[in-house]
Amino acid sequence: MSSTHPVYLVFIGPPGAGKGTQAAMLEKELGLKQVSSGDLFRENLKNQTELGLLAKSYMDQGNLVPDEVTIRMVQDRLQRPDCARGVIFDGFPRTLQQASALDAMLTAQGSKIDLAPVLTVADDALMARLTGRRVCRQCGATYHVLFNPPQADGVCDACGGELYQRSDDSVETVHNRLFVYYKQTAPLIGYYYAHGLAVFIDGGQSIELVKEALLGAIQTAAST
Ligand code: ADP
Ligand code: AMP
Repeated sequence: MSSTHPVYLVFIGPPGAGKGTQAAMLEKELGLKQVSSGDLFRENLKNQTELGLLAKSYMDQGNLVPDEVTIRMVQDRLQRPDCARGVIFDGFPRTLQQASALDAMLTAQGSKIDLAPVLTVADDALMARLTGRRVCRQCGATYHVLFNPPQADGVCDACGGELYQRSDDSVETVHNRLFVYYKQTAPLIGYYYAHGLAVFIDGGQSIELVKEALLGAIQTAAST
């Protein structure tokens, strides 16, 4: 995306909607940086930081980490130079308080959110996607045992790393994560709709078709 100002996209959607998959594909294509709050928490946990250990108790249950720590973590991440050309937010914001904090952060630097694509997917498909998800321990690439399998079982195509199943991708935790999404995060759809930023994408299509639909919506927004 050639833009004179940094571009900020917010991907909204339930867990398993394909936010991470699409953000990883589009970051190169659009020259933006993917910022995933879930990945930042998992990185902190891997490094056994205080923040990681605090987040773990919430993540294990499928509940949201408190706004204050989440907002501070994302704010710090945005200061890094790789975010200068713009960002695809994936999994953040997840509450109305996070959304207004993000608006304030961007306003303070003379920017704003350009578009909030909402990926819609039926709950039964989400359950199948999440329980079959596999993630690379080394580079974080995401696969699915049936819908997006790696070439060799259990091995990352991109870096050769080992694939693992996230502990919160169990049936019970997914049920709670969906509950939390509809209760705490879905209100953001109204928030962004009211700001004229929401655009609805059928996330139930193939990975390739979702990508095309997203690119179309982003290009339309950029040209208006
Ligand atoms: P999110 O980041 O929204 O939680 P992911 O991008 O991690 O979701 O996708 C969840 C799972 O579904 C992954 O295993 C991924 O490979 C798979 N997936 C993503 N998009 C699609 C799609 N359009 N069709 C089928 N499976 C998909
Ligand atoms: P994700 O990788 O987006 O599926 O997130 C995994 C878990 O990290 C969630 O279930 C939450 O516990 C936590 N998390 C990620 N992003 C946020 C956020 N923006 N606000 C609060 N908790 C979050």
